[in-house]
Amino acid sequence: MAAKVDAEKCIGCGACEGTCPVGAIKVNGDKAVVDEAACVSCGACAGGCPVEAITVD
Ligand code: SF4
Ligand code: SF4
Repeated sequence: MAAKVDAEKCIGCGACEGTCPVGAIKVNGDKAVVDEAACVSCGACAGGCPVEAITVD
């Protein structure tokens, strides 16, 4: 269980990085990447994404 980024939608804006309480999502190049081991599936990043690129199971 972890957040997933749809690379087709992600525009690399970086908004998600600041919303994650455990620092589990970072922009690498021009796409956000989730550290699945660190992610606690809180959903905070998904709510802040302007293009709805993040889903959380
Ligand atoms: S779901 Fe929560 S813990 Fe996981 S990457 Fe998004 S903000 Fe971070
Ligand atoms: S907030 Fe959304 S569009 Fe912006 S870097 Fe994160 S996943 Fe990509």
